[in-house]
Amino acid sequence: MNTHTAEPQHTMLAEIARRFELQRTLTRSGPAPTLAQRKHALDKLRRMLLTHQAAFTTAISEDFGNRSADETRMLEIGLLMSAARNARKNLHRWMKARRRHVDIAFQPAKAWVRHEPLGVIGIIAPWNYPLFLSLGPLIDVIAAGNRAMIKPSELTPRLSELLAQAIAETFDETEVTVINGGPDVAQAFSGLPFDHLIFTGSTTVGRIVMQTAAANLTPVTLELGGKSPVILCDDFDVTRAAESIAFGKFLNAGQTCIAPDYVLVPEHKVEAFAHAVIAHVGKSYPEIAGNDDYTSIVSQRHYDRLAAAIAEAQAAGATVLAMPGAPEVRKIAPTVVIGAPADGVLMREEIFGPVLPVIGYKTIEEALAFINGRDRPLALYAFSKERNMLDRILDGAISGGVTLNGTLLHAGQDGMAFGGVGPSGTGGYHGYDGFLRFSHARSVLKIGFVNVFEKLGPPWGGLARWITAVLEWRSSRG
Ligand code: NAD
Repeated sequence: MNTHTAEPQHTMLAEIARRFELQRTLTRSGPAPTLAQRKHALDKLRRMLLTHQAAFTTAISEDFGNRSADETRMLEIGLLMSAARNARKNLHRWMKARRRHVDIAFQPAKAWVRHEPLGVIGIIAPWNYPLFLSLGPLIDVIAAGNRAMIKPSELTPRLSELLAQAIAETFDETEVTVINGGPDVAQAFSGLPFDHLIFTGSTTVGRIVMQTAAANLTPVTLELGGKSPVILCDDFDVTRAAESIAFGKFLNAGQTCIAPDYVLVPEHKVEAFAHAVIAHVGKSYPEIAGNDDYTSIVSQRHYDRLAAAIAEAQAAGATVLAMPGAPEVRKIAPTVVIGAPADGVLMREEIFGPVLPVIGYKTIEEALAFINGRDRPLALYAFSKERNMLDRILDGAISGGVTLNGTLLHAGQDGMAFGGVGPSGTGGYHGYDGFLRFSHARSVLKIGFVNVFEKLGPPWGGLARWITAVLEWRSSRG
């Protein structure tokens, strides 16, 4: 649906409702898709990605101003291909009914759990990885046998339009469909009585989405943001950590939900660490303005927000280390800030850009207290060679996910759920966990040749009371 036309609002809303009703009716009238049908849908999705990969890459780059083509291929298309392959390969096992234990009191009987499609799933995606965050959930949604409606971000209009076309060529609108538009369309979209809604975006909008969905009792998965900290321990090599943190921070110019937001460094190593980061980015990005490997900030509004946050820190006396940026192409050079004020934007809000505050700490307890004094983060990174120290950090601060002695890569694992906790998100997905997320675990009990409970009464007699007493005695034992 193209919102860049002058299509009246009510027509657009009627069209969204029409597509929803079409999908919903089918989920209520036919059997769940078979294994073969789900595999076929995943194959179609893989073919679509391969056919359009060059066009997707170009569209994303044009939307950003410049987005590294290699990063798009690796972090969006590559991860999607891998996730679709993983789902296709394992789906026959995931779909199998699971036998469950039946207590002797209920024998003879059999129990099992079937994982069944929920129905129509809404997917709302952000702009920072616009393809991966639209189609990543879709892979799990299809694997679980659902139909889907996707609402991509209005901040990547070329990609969103291309995605709508590619999906329409690949899938019938009763299977998967794309709805494009701004926050008003998004608001109406999230008000549809979906069987499940997955929202990826900011914590602020996530709160609104959860409230809107609550009116329909639509369950939500919220993939939100926040400030993901790094703890560098005293025993770990500063240069190695600096390289690893710079890699995670400056990819996509820091516009990654799990990018390291700030780094806690032993007090006496703050300067050395900051300079090691800057030395490393000098090698990774020898030039900024004309460097296709270095991504632009997605919009002027986001550029201005970041520039103002750096200026604010500088005015408050912070030390700012950076190469010159390129405002004409909305590029902010990798920037390290020492002494960012605690009440400034850089330390109050999710940075979501290539600016890395470095904060000194005296003891590991102080570093953990610093993290625990804030919202529970989406990701946590720790660098240490000592297993005990890493365990202490894992025990001491909760986060959605963790990469130890590296950054970002836990999010690329098909074998583990990805998600936040508390204000950084609700519910994880990816791989088998995504299949479970978008399935209904339906418990089935099949009674055997006799139902003992029915035989006992009413009227309840001595045998019933004796059996109840035996069960009570058994339950009261350790
Ligand atoms: P956003 O919240 O501004 O927008 C996300 C989507 O929500 C867009 O499609 C938008 O159209 C829609 N939307 C806007 N208003 C809405 C409303 N009232 N009701 C329903 N939907 C509405 O986020 P963004 O700026 O696109 O993305 C950046 C944020 O996303 C960052 O906070 C980042 O950390 C987070 N993020 C999280 C993950 C994750 O997996 N946890 C991944 C990427 C980004």
